[in-house]
Amino acid sequence: MFLTISTTGTPERPATDLGFLLHKHPEKAQAFSTAHGTAHVLYPEATAERCTAALLLEVDPVALVRRGKGKGRGGAPDSALAQYVNDRPYAASSLLAVALAKVFKSALHGACAALPERAAAPLPLRIEIPALPARGGAGLVDRLFGPLGWTSVTAEPVVLDPEFPEWGDSRYVRLVLEGKLRLADALNQLYVLLPVLDDAKHYWVAPDEVDKLLRAGDGWLAGHPEQKLITSRYLSRRWGLTREATERLEMVRLAEADGLEVEDVDNAVGAGEGDTAAGAVDAVGEAGGAEERSVPLAELRREAILGALRAAEAARVLDLGCGQGQLVQALLKDVRFTDIVGVDVSARALAIAARRLRLERMGERQAGRVTLLQGSLTYTDKRLTGYDAAVLSEVIEHLDLPRLPALGYAVFGSARPRTVVVTTPNVEYNVRWETLPAGHVRHGDHRFEWTREEFRAWAADIAGTYGYGVEFAPVGTDDPEVGPPTQMAVFTRTDTTPKEDAA
Ligand code: SAH
Repeated sequence: MFLTISTTGTPERPATDLGFLLHKHPEKAQAFSTAHGTAHVLYPEATAERCTAALLLEVDPVALVRRGKGKGRGGAPDSALAQYVNDRPYAASSLLAVALAKVFKSALHGACAALPERAAAPLPLRIEIPALPARGGAGLVDRLFGPLGWTSVTAEPVVLDPEFPEWGDSRYVRLVLEGKLRLADALNQLYVLLPVLDDAKHYWVAPDEVDKLLRAGDGWLAGHPEQKLITSRYLSRRWGLTREATERLEMVRLAEADGLEVEDVDNAVGAGEGDTAAGAVDAVGEAGGAEERSVPLAELRREAILGALRAAEAARVLDLGCGQGQLVQALLKDVRFTDIVGVDVSARALAIAARRLRLERMGERQAGRVTLLQGSLTYTDKRLTGYDAAVLSEVIEHLDLPRLPALGYAVFGSARPRTVVVTTPNVEYNVRWETLPAGHVRHGDHRFEWTREEFRAWAADIAGTYGYGVEFAPVGTDDPEVGPPTQMAVFTRTDTTPKEDAA
């Protein structure tokens, strides 16, 4: 089974650059052993005008059977022979996708130290897969690749046997994709969609398959019209995993639709001491001419959170729903915070956070203090246990109300840090913001905004259920009538004192 990737070029931008982008030299034929056989990379043509790389996977059918994973489709699944007589060695199945991911790993990540600007730019591509098993036929191939930016998607059914046309078509198509795409995008699409079309995964779906899918689907899957089918087939129709992926993709889609300017409305608004709220809006509305210095609300919030964490003597801290990492950055500046973990559902937010923190260029000691994890807060996660404190800064209002109990259980019931700091908008304060039309929430993705009473009721319920005490504090000017712009709750576990916990 094989696929070819071709590109065209000019003397200034030779097509052979493909070799750099794939990290495979055009003049060398190379072989890599994979779990299921040998993958070969070779270049049938390599000139400045045109260059084609071929990935050829030689499947070892016996190894497949030994691994107990050869029971794809093809043949009656129960018959002993089906193990040996099946299409796995010939068709571009999920095995090819796995080989692709292994052999072109750096290219899939879009990494290319030699030609970074070439890797980042779309290039003319032609991808051909002569025998692609396509459950759902040519029509589905069109629906899957159609929305992904190709100028032409051709899926020709392959006849079962040219000698006997009356036998009709096989379930294979010859696929040709043509268009101008980033190489990494094209490879990630193939990595996901080959197994989707094959629809017979050859290895057990592990929990981290969801992470792999979201990583490979970054930037295209969340908005894909066939997202449900892709997700469900990719995850071998495992219901729980599919649901998790769907939920996470939904968050990604919302964040993308928002341009990811999380919290832009109220982060942009100053709420400095002594400011009237309207004054604060003016001060920020047009930065020029603003004389009174007003501290942005986001900064006040960070200061309040840092204060609460210091008071709780927390050293190991989770920032749950860390977004673009502003709080993580502030935590890093204080050495008392020895372990800082930022968690977010959005891969894009985390990528921005990593850039903001300059994780790559950080010294070893500093880098050792910080971890960024992708994860959904509505699922329990073992990685989040054993911390002193967790922060949920402007996060709960991004969840649909019916999902909030799941977050409550995951954070207070399962991760169970000694201290949990939660901030959320106080909806009563919204009337003080002239820029906010009456009755509107502060941010497009907010599913709700609570009054002080509603927040207190939720917090009391959580505290009672999970054995925490809770105290409240205002963030920003505490308006005598409507309260502060941000409300904060600090929960402390009642079954332990800080000293016991540290021991
Ligand atoms: N804590 C940051 C960002 C708040 S915006 C701040 O105070 O500025 C809300 C963040 O929560 C977004 O980055 C969003 O991706 C994340 N988020 C929303 N639902 C989530 C979930 N279920 N699991 C993990 N993160 C989630």
